[in-house]
Formats: sequence, C-alpha cells, structure tokens
Amino acid sequence: MVEEIEDVLGKGILEKILNLLFEENPLSYNQISEKISIDYGTLKKTMIRNKDYFQESSKDGKTKFFKLSILGEKFVREKLEDYKKKQDYFKELDEALKRKQVLVEELSEEVKNIIQNKEINLNREGKSIYIDVGELAVENPALSEMLLEKPDEVIGVFKNSLEKDYDIRFKNLPKTAIINIEELRQEHLNKLIMVECRSVSLSNVRPIIKNIKFECPSCGTVHSVLQNDSFIRRPSRCSCGRKGGFREISKEMVNAANVMLEDLTCKG
Ligand SMILES: [Zn+2]
Repeated sequence: MVEEIEDVLGKGILEKILNLLFEENPLSYNQISEKISIDYGTLKKTMIRNKDYFQESSKDGKTKFFKLSILGEKFVREKLEDYKKKQDYFKELDEALKRKQVLVEELSEEVKNIIQNKEINLNREGKSIYIDVGELAVENPALSEMLLEKPDEVIGVFKNSLEKDYDIRFKNLPKTAIINIEELRQEHLNKLIMVECRSVSLSNVRPIIKNIKFECPSCGTVHSVLQNDSFIRRPSRCSCGRKGGFREISKEMVNAANVMLEDLTCKG
C-alpha cells in the first residue's frame, strides 16, 4: 500500500508527509521527521505552508500531534481513485488488445487455409476482389458469421492475405444482413450489412485522413491514431508517461465522398 501511494503522489516532501500520515497517525513533527528522514526545519516549513492538508489532533504537553485534515484525506483518496481508474483502464485496454491479437492470429490461419486450398472463388474485377459470402458460409460457417459480426478484423485479415492493391468486396450476403435504411439502428454499427437503396446525391470527392502514425520522442513507441473528425486526433498519453509533443511520421489518406441514400420504397 505504502509503495502504491508513493507511486500515486510522487516523491516530493509534501507527498511523503501526506503518504505517511495517511497510513499512520497521529504523529508529531519529530516522529514524521524521523520516519521520512527530512530535517525538522524543512518539515515544519512544508507543513505550515500546506497547513490546509493537516490537522492538529492531540497534544501531549508541549508536543503537537498531526493527522490529515478532511481536505488532506480527500486529496490523497482522490489521487488514489484516479490512479486506480487509470490502472483499470489500462488493464482493460491491454486485455482487449490481447483478445484481438488472439482473434486475428486464429483468423489469419483460417483465411490462409481457405485461400491456399482455393476453397472459395476469388473473382478479380478491376481493382476489386469479390468474395461470395454465401459460398464462404458453406465452406466455413464460423468465418462467415465472424465476417458479419467483426468485419473490421476479418476484412483486415483478408487484406493481409491477398494482394495489397486490391479492395475486398462482398456479395451474396445472407438475408439477415440486408437492411432497409429506415431499419438501421445502433446494433448495426461496426457490423457488415448490405443496404438496398438508391443514391440521390453525391458530393465532390476529396481526400480525408484515415490514420496518422505518431512517434513518441521519449521512447520511440509508434502510436497509430484513427482519424474521423475534422480536427486531428493525437495520442493522449504514451505508456512511458509522456503526454504531448508526439512526432507525426506518416499519414494514411483516402479519397472520399458523401453519398445521400434513400430507401427504394420512398417516393415510389
Ligand atoms: Zn513514450
């Protein structure tokens, strides 16, 4: 516990005092000075300068004893909670990444087998490779199910296993994945669906940034940050603790346009 609080609060004199009194109190100036090896004068000055954090709790003759004030206690607890939340967040993130890693590795094997054994037809047309999802469902039902549920991962694996400069396209999706525009709901987000509709307008094509890679100047870690807004998103924090000044090293751009769609049933 003591070590953890030290990590949270830092190793300054004030932090050392807060840390100690959070664990053990009441203590006198002399006791604190001894326990954290800070000279009496500096200790007293620091405590008086930050007197809001401390409270005199008892007196034994001339000796005063201190504990944390409500404010001091609140300060330490809040720091601890923030720290816990951050730790939990990073742990979750780590586990999610590991799960994704395992998934991608398993998928890669399956996809490699399918392609090597020519289990499905890969029809090349122009710059596209068409995959017949109906056919895939017959050869490998689990993979076709996964494609509908986690298209980003599965399409990524197909892309890595096939020629780089082709786009992967899908046809013959199951009826359950064919949706009318008016039926679209949040549960369809990040799923592979097909929408039957007509396009009513098309904007100009313009390049947009999809992804930027940033390098941490302190430790060299490369952070890949997805871009989907008009402002540029940067890494908020590196695992080494750095919080800013990340160097942009590469950008992934695509040409994009906005298409306005309407249901086939609209306006006859
Ligand atoms: Zn770093």
